[in-house]
Amino acid sequence: MGKLITPHAVVETPVFMPVGTLASVKGVPQDLLEELGVQILLGNTYHLYLRPGVETVRRMGGLHGFMAWDRAILTDSGGFQVFSLNELRKVTEEGVTFRSHLDGSSHFFSPESSMEAQIGLGADIIMAFDECTEFPADRERMRTSMEMTTRWAERSKRYFEEHKHDVPWGSCQERQSSGARRQEELGELRSPGQTRASAPTQTQALFGIVQGGMDLGLRRESAERTIEIGFPGYAIGGLSVGEPREVTREVVEATLDHLPADQPRYLMGVGTPEEIATYAGLGVDMMDCVLPTRAARHGLLFTSEGKVSIKQARYANDAGPLDPACGCRVCSRYSRAYLRHLYASNEVLAQVLNTVHNLSFYLDTMRRVRHSIRLGEGTRPLSGVSSHLKP
Ligand SMILES: [Zn+2]
Repeated sequence: MGKLITPHAVVETPVFMPVGTLASVKGVPQDLLEELGVQILLGNTYHLYLRPGVETVRRMGGLHGFMAWDRAILTDSGGFQVFSLNELRKVTEEGVTFRSHLDGSSHFFSPESSMEAQIGLGADIIMAFDECTEFPADRERMRTSMEMTTRWAERSKRYFEEHKHDVPWGSCQERQSSGARRQEELGELRSPGQTRASAPTQTQALFGIVQGGMDLGLRRESAERTIEIGFPGYAIGGLSVGEPREVTREVVEATLDHLPADQPRYLMGVGTPEEIATYAGLGVDMMDCVLPTRAARHGLLFTSEGKVSIKQARYANDAGPLDPACGCRVCSRYSRAYLRHLYASNEVLAQVLNTVHNLSFYLDTMRRVRHSIRLGEGTRPLSGVSSHLKP
């Protein structure tokens, strides 16, 4: 188990990050997310850039102020959504021109503009702008794409270093003092050289992303070159793009070997409850996936007894709980018959309750993994991801 120290919160790892695309985990209010034990949320830069727009969020103090969330937040770079939602995108060395999926208007993302947007959104952890290589792709294409991602990582870092003080909460006096209080409360987490009086002004942490398609050699090269640029954490991107599950695992295992174990390692966009447990066991510290929330909205629920499709008629008279082994507020209160009725009647509450259970199941899975790691190995120290600046 590790601890990730971000400007807004200390996150116990391995951690699952629910996806809050538009500054909202669909159907679940923030106080409930806190109660479920969500430590860190993911926001999508592409969606937030289009709606409500970065400037609106920035003026509200960044995502934390805008969505009233005091815990940690990570934003992606927008690269993956541009890749997955825009068939007509045009990629050049400079960046990507794409059309909004909302109104067809034309937009441009580059490493610099992605950094500008992510600094304005003000998440604790932000991601370098990368190109997600499509699957399948030939080796030449995978190499060209990986090399551009490397150059984009350099540009992302350069822009970030020059503009990181523009973060909407970085210069806020109130935020600084509450940050200092939090530091005092977490006194045992301070490194020896760090004194209480320093109350550092913090900035976001920019993570690098390893690409290279499904080619293990290219993945290794991408990892080495990204580490050479130097980031406080590293992500494995470009997976869950249609490749077989065994290939995903092979690439993850091979890539992890080349990433520093004392820095956070983030596997992007993966996976089922079994997969997140497996990858956490292999040493992945952070994961995000739309699966628990998206599946919930389609009536697909993860339980200790396997997947349950709550829409099925067989549950119409089932008085039992959704998952007898789950202690969440849904399983401890409602019957399968009621959940099935809500879903069949297209009640908004169906989405809410289904999402609460699925998230609860994912978070419990990670809690169990952390527990077993704690028993087996003890704590694995991770270097903090926030830049501590001299006052
Ligand atoms: Zn439950």
